[in-house]
Amino acid sequence: MFQRIAILGIGLIGGSIARAARALGLAQTIALYDADASVRGRCRELELGEICDKIEAAVSGADLIVLAVPVGAMGAAMQAAAPAIAEGAIVTDVGSVKGAVIDAVAASLPAHALFVPGHPLAGTEHSGPDAGFATLFKGRWHILTPLEDARPGYAAAIDKLEGFWRALGANVERMDPARHDVVLAVVSHLPHLIAFNIVAMAEDLESVTESEVVKYSASGFRDFTRIAASDPTMWRDVFLNNRDAVLEVLGRFSEDLAALQRAIRWGDGETLYDLFDRARRMRREVIEAGQDTPAPNWGREN
Ligand code: NAP
Repeated sequence: MFQRIAILGIGLIGGSIARAARALGLAQTIALYDADASVRGRCRELELGEICDKIEAAVSGADLIVLAVPVGAMGAAMQAAAPAIAEGAIVTDVGSVKGAVIDAVAASLPAHALFVPGHPLAGTEHSGPDAGFATLFKGRWHILTPLEDARPGYAAAIDKLEGFWRALGANVERMDPARHDVVLAVVSHLPHLIAFNIVAMAEDLESVTESEVVKYSASGFRDFTRIAASDPTMWRDVFLNNRDAVLEVLGRFSEDLAALQRAIRWGDGETLYDLFDRARRMRREVIEAGQDTPAPNWGREN
């Protein structure tokens, strides 16, 4: 599909793309670069592809360049890569935020490159090159947020990239970048913020609860700890770069939480029941859409 894919940033996502593309034979060469020398060393041990010590060496001659660094590092990675990008190369990214990343990348994108932003809705709470695996994107969504670019070749570049993600096993959808940022604020960013907050609050209360939070965590708390174990750099960058959408959704969430607080205070069981019932129906919809297992307790044994 491609002669040379250059992946910049070899963490969970970059490492997974490299493994999957190699397993499926989607490129003649897969070149990888990471700013961290110890990560490059580990990737050599893992034999993830041609590991380059300079970003220009990875990008040079590539017909697909994937930016897989944290959202806050996208602009710097693009700036460093730009001088080596070949005429007509497709540039994409995997950032969890689209509007801010598009602005950051566009600032130094060479005019002769074709930039098609994207975001795989796939991941785990683990990070680094060891965390990646070839089947990460299988059956998951990949959202492309193409730009308004009327140049000849741009539409073909979108189609080719869509074919690449489909080959990795993803279902691909196209979306406006601003819409992506609002939708993701609801389904991903706010849930992470709530998880970080609950877990940090429990840690603050540790002296009162005397380790009982950890002891009885299977009551629900442990599921928040899984989400809250996600990479702090990645999530700091998500909130700093999707500020408007997150603040809007958070405002709505805080209002609804205040209404729940009032219902509890005034013994308004009907309000509580109605909301819990609506929420429960949403769980059924998620299962019907194939986004989670119907097995009790997520199929865990305990
Ligand atoms: P990760 O495991 O932390 O890996 C990112 C790697 O990029 C790190 O090794 C980092 O090195 C390196 N890096 C940082 N700045 C760089 C630069 N300027 N040039 C080259 N390498 C650089 O992160 P990840 O989880 O794969 O996430 C990567 C991207 O995917 C992020 O934009 C994230 O929003 C997006 N994403 C993540 C998930 C998820 O669940 N994890 C899901 C969908 C999308 P240092 O450690 O030295 O900084």
